[in-house]
Amino acid sequence: MRHLLLLLLSVIGLAAAETKRCVFCEIVAGQREQAAVYRDDKVMAFMTIGPVNPGHVLVIPLVHADNYLEVQPEALGAMLAAAQRIGRALQLTDLNAEGIQLLMNTGRAAGQTVFHAHLHVIPRHTGDSGIEQKSEAPRPTMAELEAVAAKIRVKL
Ligand code: 5GP
Ligand code: ZN
Repeated sequence: MRHLLLLLLSVIGLAAAETKRCVFCEIVAGQREQAAVYRDDKVMAFMTIGPVNPGHVLVIPLVHADNYLEVQPEALGAMLAAAQRIGRALQLTDLNAEGIQLLMNTGRAAGQTVFHAHLHVIPRHTGDSGIEQKSEAPRPTMAELEAVAAKIRVKL
Protein backbone atom coordinates (compact mmCIF):
# COMPACT_ATOMS: atom_id res chain seq x y z
CA MET A 1 0.00 0.00 0.00
CA ARG A 2 2.83 2.37 0.97
CA HIS A 3 4.66 1.52 -2.28
CA LEU A 4 1.53 2.22 -4.27
CA LEU A 5 1.16 5.59 -2.58
CA LEU A 6 4.82 6.47 -3.30
CA LEU A 7 4.40 5.43 -6.92
CA LEU A 8 1.27 7.56 -7.23
CA LEU A 9 3.08 10.58 -5.73
CA SER A 10 6.03 10.23 -8.09
CA VAL A 11 3.69 9.95 -11.10
CA ILE A 12 1.91 13.14 -10.00
CA GLY A 13 5.32 14.81 -9.49
CA LEU A 14 6.48 13.82 -12.97
CA ALA A 15 3.23 15.06 -14.51
CA ALA A 16 3.63 18.42 -12.74
CA ALA A 17 7.25 18.75 -13.91
CA GLU A 18 6.15 17.92 -17.46
CA THR A 19 3.44 20.64 -17.35
CA LYS A 20 6.00 23.24 -16.23
CA ARG A 21 8.60 22.36 -18.88
CA CYS A 22 8.76 25.12 -21.47
CA VAL A 23 10.80 24.68 -24.67
CA PHE A 24 11.30 28.43 -25.08
CA CYS A 25 12.50 28.82 -21.48
CA GLU A 26 14.98 26.06 -22.33
CA ILE A 27 16.11 28.10 -25.34
CA VAL A 28 16.50 31.22 -23.13
CA ALA A 29 18.60 29.14 -20.71
CA GLY A 30 20.77 27.80 -23.55
CA GLN A 31 19.59 24.25 -22.88
CA ARG A 32 18.15 23.70 -26.36
CA GLU A 33 19.80 24.10 -29.75
CA GLN A 34 18.74 27.23 -31.61
CA ALA A 35 19.77 29.46 -34.49
CA ALA A 36 20.01 32.78 -32.66
CA VAL A 37 19.26 36.08 -34.33
CA TYR A 38 19.15 38.66 -31.54
CA ARG A 39 19.24 39.05 -27.75
CA ASP A 40 19.09 41.95 -25.30
CA ASP A 41 18.17 42.25 -21.62
CA LYS A 42 14.43 41.71 -22.24
CA VAL A 43 13.97 39.62 -25.39
CA MET A 44 15.61 37.20 -27.74
CA ALA A 45 14.95 36.08 -31.32
CA PHE A 46 15.77 32.85 -33.13
CA MET A 47 14.71 30.90 -36.20
CA THR A 48 11.60 28.76 -35.86
CA ILE A 49 12.17 25.07 -36.58
CA GLY A 50 9.00 25.13 -38.70
CA PRO A 51 9.28 28.14 -41.02
CA VAL A 52 6.37 29.01 -43.30
CA ASN A 53 8.97 30.85 -45.42
CA PRO A 54 12.77 31.07 -45.17
CA GLY A 55 13.72 33.77 -42.66
CA HIS A 56 10.76 33.09 -40.32
CA VAL A 57 11.90 34.38 -36.91
CA LEU A 58 10.33 34.14 -33.44
CA VAL A 59 10.79 36.96 -30.91
CA ILE A 60 10.19 36.01 -27.27
CA PRO A 61 10.41 37.67 -23.85
CA LEU A 62 13.23 36.28 -21.68
CA VAL A 63 10.83 36.09 -18.73
CA HIS A 64 8.22 33.38 -19.16
CA ALA A 65 4.66 34.46 -19.95
CA ASP A 66 2.11 32.03 -21.38
CA ASN A 67 0.97 34.44 -24.08
CA TYR A 68 1.14 38.12 -25.03
CA LEU A 69 -1.70 39.08 -22.68
CA GLU A 70 0.57 38.05 -19.80
CA VAL A 71 3.77 39.79 -21.00
CA GLN A 72 4.97 42.82 -19.03
CA PRO A 73 4.40 45.99 -21.13
CA GLU A 74 8.13 46.87 -21.28
CA ALA A 75 8.95 43.39 -22.57
CA LEU A 76 6.08 43.60 -25.08
CA GLY A 77 7.49 46.92 -26.33
CA ALA A 78 10.95 45.37 -26.55
CA MET A 79 9.51 42.45 -28.57
CA LEU A 80 8.00 44.86 -31.08
CA ALA A 81 11.17 46.95 -31.28
CA ALA A 82 13.22 43.79 -31.93
CA ALA A 83 10.70 42.68 -34.56
CA GLN A 84 11.08 46.04 -36.30
CA ARG A 85 14.85 45.75 -36.28
CA ILE A 86 14.67 42.18 -37.58
CA GLY A 87 12.10 43.16 -40.24
CA ARG A 88 14.40 45.89 -41.53
CA ALA A 89 17.33 43.47 -41.52
CA LEU A 90 15.29 40.84 -43.37
CA GLN A 91 14.65 43.33 -46.16
CA LEU A 92 18.39 43.86 -46.54
CA THR A 93 19.05 40.14 -47.08
CA ASP A 94 18.57 38.08 -50.25
CA LEU A 95 15.54 36.34 -48.66
CA ASN A 96 13.16 38.31 -50.84
CA ALA A 97 11.08 39.69 -47.97
CA GLU A 98 8.76 41.76 -50.16
CA GLY A 99 6.32 41.88 -47.29
CA ILE A 100 6.60 41.05 -43.59
CA GLN A 101 3.90 39.60 -41.40
CA LEU A 102 3.79 39.86 -37.60
CA LEU A 103 1.68 37.25 -35.87
CA MET A 104 0.91 36.33 -32.26
CA ASN A 105 -1.30 33.32 -31.82
CA THR A 106 -2.93 33.55 -28.41
CA GLY A 107 -4.70 30.48 -27.05
CA ARG A 108 -5.27 27.07 -28.62
CA ALA A 109 -8.30 28.37 -30.51
CA ALA A 110 -6.03 30.85 -32.28
CA GLY A 111 -3.51 28.16 -33.18
CA GLN A 112 -1.02 28.68 -30.35
CA THR A 113 1.04 25.54 -29.83
CA VAL A 114 3.92 26.81 -27.65
CA PHE A 115 2.73 28.48 -24.45
CA HIS A 116 5.57 30.95 -24.01
CA ALA A 117 4.59 34.20 -25.72
CA HIS A 118 6.19 34.64 -29.15
CA LEU A 119 5.91 37.05 -32.02
CA HIS A 120 6.29 35.52 -35.48
CA VAL A 121 8.18 37.68 -37.99
CA ILE A 122 7.45 36.10 -41.36
CA PRO A 123 8.89 37.20 -44.71
CA ARG A 124 6.11 37.28 -47.30
CA HIS A 125 6.23 37.05 -51.07
CA THR A 126 3.75 38.11 -53.72
CA GLY A 127 1.24 35.29 -54.17
CA ASP A 128 1.66 33.84 -50.64
CA SER A 129 -1.53 32.66 -48.99
CA GLY A 130 -0.75 35.16 -46.21
CA ILE A 131 -1.78 32.73 -43.51
CA GLU A 132 0.43 30.67 -41.24
CA GLN A 133 0.25 27.31 -42.94
CA LYS A 134 2.08 24.16 -42.06
CA SER A 135 4.75 23.90 -44.74
CA GLU A 136 4.71 20.74 -46.89
CA ALA A 137 8.47 21.03 -47.31
CA PRO A 138 10.72 18.99 -45.01
CA ARG A 139 11.93 20.91 -41.96
CA PRO A 140 15.25 22.67 -42.46
CA THR A 141 18.25 21.33 -40.61
CA MET A 142 19.79 23.35 -37.78
CA ALA A 143 22.76 24.10 -40.09
CA GLU A 144 20.38 25.53 -42.70
CA LEU A 145 18.57 27.61 -40.06
CA GLU A 146 21.91 28.87 -38.74
CA ALA A 147 22.93 29.94 -42.26
CA VAL A 148 19.73 32.02 -42.57
CA ALA A 149 20.16 33.43 -39.04
CA ALA A 150 23.70 34.54 -39.97
CA LYS A 151 22.34 36.43 -42.99
CA ILE A 152 19.92 38.32 -40.74
CA ARG A 153 22.43 38.94 -37.93
CA VAL A 154 24.90 40.75 -40.18
CA LYS A 155 22.16 43.16 -41.30
CA LEU A 156 20.90 44.05 -37.80
P1 5GP B 1 2.51 28.88 -32.48
O1 5GP B 1 1.79 27.83 -33.31
O2 5GP B 1 2.46 28.57 -31.00
O3 5GP B 1 2.10 30.29 -32.80
O4 5GP B 1 4.02 28.79 -32.94
C1 5GP B 1 4.97 27.97 -32.35
C2 5GP B 1 6.25 28.15 -33.13
O5 5GP B 1 7.29 27.59 -32.38
C3 5GP B 1 6.23 27.43 -34.49
O6 5GP B 1 6.79 28.30 -35.47
C4 5GP B 1 7.12 26.22 -34.23
O7 5GP B 1 7.77 25.78 -35.40
C5 5GP B 1 8.10 26.80 -33.23
N1 5GP B 1 8.79 25.83 -32.38
C6 5GP B 1 8.24 24.81 -31.66
N2 5GP B 1 9.20 24.17 -30.96
C7 5GP B 1 10.37 24.79 -31.25
C8 5GP B 1 11.71 24.56 -30.83
O8 5GP B 1 12.05 23.67 -30.05
N3 5GP B 1 12.66 25.39 -31.35
C9 5GP B 1 12.35 26.41 -32.22
N4 5GP B 1 13.36 27.17 -32.67
N5 5GP B 1 11.09 26.64 -32.64
C10 5GP B 1 10.11 25.84 -32.15
ZN1 ZN C 1 8.74 29.68 -21.03
